[in-house]
Amino acid sequence: MAVTDILNKKNLTRQDIIALLRAEGDDLKLLFDRARQIREQNFGRRVYYRAIIEFSNICRKDCLYCGIRRSNKHLVRYDLDDELILRAARFAFDNGIYSLVLQSGERTDRAFAQRIAHLVRKIKQMSGGKIGITLSVGEQDFQVYKYWYEAGAHRYLLRIEVSDPRLYPLYHPWDDLHKYDRRLECLYYLKDIGYQVGTGVMIGLPLQTLGNLADDLLFFKRFDIDMLGMGPYIEHNHTPLYSYRHLLIPLRKRLILTMKMNAILRILMPDINIAATTALQAIDQMGREKALDIACNVIMPNITPDHRQDYLLYEGKPCTDEGGDACVQCLNKRLEIYRLKPIMQDWGDSPHYFKRTSTPVR
Ligand code: SAM
Ligand code: SF4
Repeated sequence: MAVTDILNKKNLTRQDIIALLRAEGDDLKLLFDRARQIREQNFGRRVYYRAIIEFSNICRKDCLYCGIRRSNKHLVRYDLDDELILRAARFAFDNGIYSLVLQSGERTDRAFAQRIAHLVRKIKQMSGGKIGITLSVGEQDFQVYKYWYEAGAHRYLLRIEVSDPRLYPLYHPWDDLHKYDRRLECLYYLKDIGYQVGTGVMIGLPLQTLGNLADDLLFFKRFDIDMLGMGPYIEHNHTPLYSYRHLLIPLRKRLILTMKMNAILRILMPDINIAATTALQAIDQMGREKALDIACNVIMPNITPDHRQDYLLYEGKPCTDEGGDACVQCLNKRLEIYRLKPIMQDWGDSPHYFKRTSTPVR
């Protein structure tokens, strides 16, 4: 079927999505134009900022792709002081960014749970309740997620990484800490508690097929997700998956594939928040802005005050050598080039969250 016909369909099948993922030349332009049209109908040229603080690289897990995995000894482990984190939050607030993401490696001890709740309360207090807080600190028990929600966090990012349970063990150790079912269960917990829930996958993993990616998109739709962050997988030399780099498609192709995934997702789910992820910029200087121009509506300036070079998830991670100030200023200028409009002093919630009423059947 021709791409124009597919784009005119009400519901896209797995086969349709695979055909769109294969689109090139004029067909690719048609796909991008349709995604842009839907983005503009729902968000205009608006872009929401989320200032991200990568406050610790200490992690109990060993995901085979990740540069800060527990077994990697080639980096300095850090955990920023509360005071530094609060100062960074204040910096965001003073610069009109009212949406903050706290991200780290995974820890599940009691002290960690209490500390996060404390930080959330402190940030809320400091901003008079004006800063909206997103957490991204991995898999936790229901009670812990609830505790943080009650402390004031209202969004949570937990990528499923690969949506097919049969593929999950290809990219994770085979032990009780790395279970697909647990990760999925956590996504249900978050939804049940009332968080705006974000998930995502990596694109271009070794052995991943277009069929797998189509399944990922259908998973997001079925799960009725509020926010999405998909990025190209980028190899890191101190990880086990690095040995399979000969199976990878070139970085440029991973970039285009990510753009296509974002565009198709925008068509499938017009009113969700889709982030232009940092990994896009690792491949193309203007990767994030290009993604925002077509389908995405969220960008996450990194305002981590220290230790950026120790949060290297993958090779060539951008902006590891500048401060938060430089990062925000630089972004504002970049958006202007694409006539994109940063929305300040706004939480930039997912419109989809407020519209969704149904809970998926488990
Ligand atoms: N530890 C938390 C978790 O896993 O949910 C949050 C932090 S983790 C570093 C954030 C995301 O980084 C992961 O969900 C994963 O998709 C991404 N990531 C890790 N290694 C990557 C790589 N080599 N290339 C691209 N993305 C990567
Ligand atoms: Fe830890 Fe998250 Fe990296 Fe996995 S992806 S090793 S959980 S930081």
